[in-house]
Amino acid sequence: MTMQSTAVLANPFEIAQAQLDTAAAKLGLDPAVHAVLREPLRELHVSLPVKMDDGSVKVFKGFRVQYNDARGPNKGGIRFHPDETIETVKALAAWMTWKTAVVDIPLGGGKGGVICNPKEMSDGELERLSRAYIQQVGRIIGPDKDVPAPDVYTTPQIMAWMMDEFSKITGYNSPGVITGKPLSIGGSEGRGDATARGGAYCTREAAKHLNIDLTKATVAIQGFGNAGQFAATLFASLLGSKIVAVSDTKGGIYSENGIDPEAIVKHKLSTGSVVGFPGTRPISNVDILELAVDVLVPAALENVITEDNAANIKAKIVCELANGPTTPEADAILYKNDVFVIPDFLANAGGVTVSYYEWVQNVTNFYWEEDDVYAKLDKKMTKAFNDVLVMSLDYKVDMRIAAYMVSVQRVAEAMKLRGWV
Ligand code: GLU
Repeated sequence: MTMQSTAVLANPFEIAQAQLDTAAAKLGLDPAVHAVLREPLRELHVSLPVKMDDGSVKVFKGFRVQYNDARGPNKGGIRFHPDETIETVKALAAWMTWKTAVVDIPLGGGKGGVICNPKEMSDGELERLSRAYIQQVGRIIGPDKDVPAPDVYTTPQIMAWMMDEFSKITGYNSPGVITGKPLSIGGSEGRGDATARGGAYCTREAAKHLNIDLTKATVAIQGFGNAGQFAATLFASLLGSKIVAVSDTKGGIYSENGIDPEAIVKHKLSTGSVVGFPGTRPISNVDILELAVDVLVPAALENVITEDNAANIKAKIVCELANGPTTPEADAILYKNDVFVIPDFLANAGGVTVSYYEWVQNVTNFYWEEDDVYAKLDKKMTKAFNDVLVMSLDYKVDMRIAAYMVSVQRVAEAMKLRGWV
């Protein structure tokens, strides 16, 4: 068994394995259980020929990784990204396994990805690519096998095309095959902002533990996709905090007087970026992480907090809405500096939790009110946060390793009970 090495790791899957190794050592995990959990159970590589608008055919590469389904059907999003790699998808599938376990929902972990640049594709090309993906991956997914969802650069519309393609293959309406769908075809109330809402609930619990008054707190958010945009509005409306900086791929904006989140969302919709929002000054995607704020929300991509900048992080709470934003070397520095990190697969578990509620509504064909979804999500997130906090205090480990310990124990128990190990 390879244990955590001292070399600097940049490959996300090696990072995921190193984090698991640390938790396994603390738990004294059975070596056979550990060996199973270090690798995905299944991975599928597909080639997707797609007719482009100019009449040519382009072949895209795609993946679906089913990491572990001991606790229930695999669950996890599909990313469309030009830099997608199988190693990233494997890491994300592992993190989904820990994510569904930490919030204690009866699902396993999976992830999908396609190497493409959706920003350069027409709607028609995207639809044909989405359908081609399901034609290939359809044989291993299904409401009781593996249930995909949106992730980076995939949308409710893409989920709708994918669900439709799967339903055509099976010959009957199968809304439960995918979550994050538009409301009118089996989506759930509250799914749109669920990732950010779950992060806000965790931040509220962290602030209680640390005695921080969030109504006086300042917040910086890196990334302005689904998670970042809703974080801006919800950290202001639910927690009463002041959003002082946000950024997207084109750059960032800062104002110590605070920025009206609803107005930035409108600005981004009309101009394509947060950059240039009136009354703010520009800030880079790197500098935004080092601002003297109370709460920092990395909500973009992986590996942005590393050993190079971790010592410069001044936030008291880091709420990781992105998957994998912090490397293990950075974690050690943040822990030493008393920066309280709410780790990704806990902080952003609100998305998959409401996906689970969507799936339950699809298979029972009975739909819930928005307030019901929010109340159930709050209860789940609060319990998950406190389970991890107790583990972290009991074992004197950071919140990430504590979250791993909670999740790994739950997945290990399921594997033992099934007789896998
Ligand atoms: N892609 C989201 C995540 O990383 C949601 C997954 C899901 O809803 O299945 O958690």
